[in-house]
Amino acid sequence: MGIHRRQVVTGALLAAGGAAAGAALVAPRWPLGPDRLPISGGYAPAGVARVWSARGEVPVVWHVSTTEPLVALTFDDGPGPRWTPMVLDILDRAAAPATFMMVGERLTRYADLLRGRLGRHEVGNHTWAHRDLAELDEAGVRDQLERADEAIRRLLGRTPTLMRPPWGHLGGSTLTVADEFGYDVVMWSQQMREEMFQHDPPAQVTDIVDNARRGSIVLAHDVGADTRLVALRQLGAMIDGLRGRGFRLVTVSELLAAATPPSTPRL
Ligand SMILES: [Zn+2]
Repeated sequence: MGIHRRQVVTGALLAAGGAAAGAALVAPRWPLGPDRLPISGGYAPAGVARVWSARGEVPVVWHVSTTEPLVALTFDDGPGPRWTPMVLDILDRAAAPATFMMVGERLTRYADLLRGRLGRHEVGNHTWAHRDLAELDEAGVRDQLERADEAIRRLLGRTPTLMRPPWGHLGGSTLTVADEFGYDVVMWSQQMREEMFQHDPPAQVTDIVDNARRGSIVLAHDVGADTRLVALRQLGAMIDGLRGRGFRLVTVSELLAAATPPSTPRL
C-alpha cells in the first residue's frame, strides 16, 4: 500500500516538474484532495469540511468519565433475524437498556423485528452498508451516514445522535461529517472476546464483569459468525454479574449525560 501511494505521489510531482519545464499552463492533477478518494485510507482530512457546521468539532468517546457506577452495553451490525430478537429477549428479561449501532441497509430489511421492542434502548448510526469510512472522502462518508440516518428516522421514528464507524476506523472526513449530523462518535473501552473464550463461556462473563469500570462502553455484536454466540448466550449472566458489582446499565446517551470532570490527573 505504502509503495503504491508513494508511486502515485511521485508521479504527480514528476508531472508537475515536467509541466514547469515545458512552461505549460495546465495545472497538474494533484492526486489528493477533498474531492478525491483517500488513497489506501490515506487522505481524509478533518480541516477542509465543506459544510460550516454548528460545532466545528466532534466528541470521540471510548469511555465516559463519571463518578456514578454506570456501564453501557452496545450491540453493532444489526438488526439481524438470527440473534437480534434473542438479545432483545434477554435485555427485556433483565429490564436492561442497551444501545444498538445499526446498519441502515439491514434495518430496511429487518425493521419488523424491532417493532415495539426498542422502548428502553437507544439506536445509533453504524453506516448504511458497513463500509470502512476511513477509505472514503467526505461525499462517501456523508452518503453512508445520511442513508442510515434517514432509515432510522423513517423506520424507527428515532433521531440518532450517535455514530460508530465500522471497525472503529476513523478518517478526518468521518469527523467532519459526524459534526454535520450533530453526532457524537462512540467507540468502546471493552469488547466481547469471543475467539479467546470460544470454549470457555464463564471466562467470557468474568472478563466483562471483572474489567468493567465506571463509564465503560462495552462492544458486542448481534450479527456475525456463530462464534459470537459465546457472548450473546452469556448476556444474562454478564448483566447479573455487573449488577452484582453495583453497576447500573444505561444507554450511551444516558452515560454521556452522567459525565463528570475526569478524576485521574493526566500526569
Ligand atoms: Zn460493525
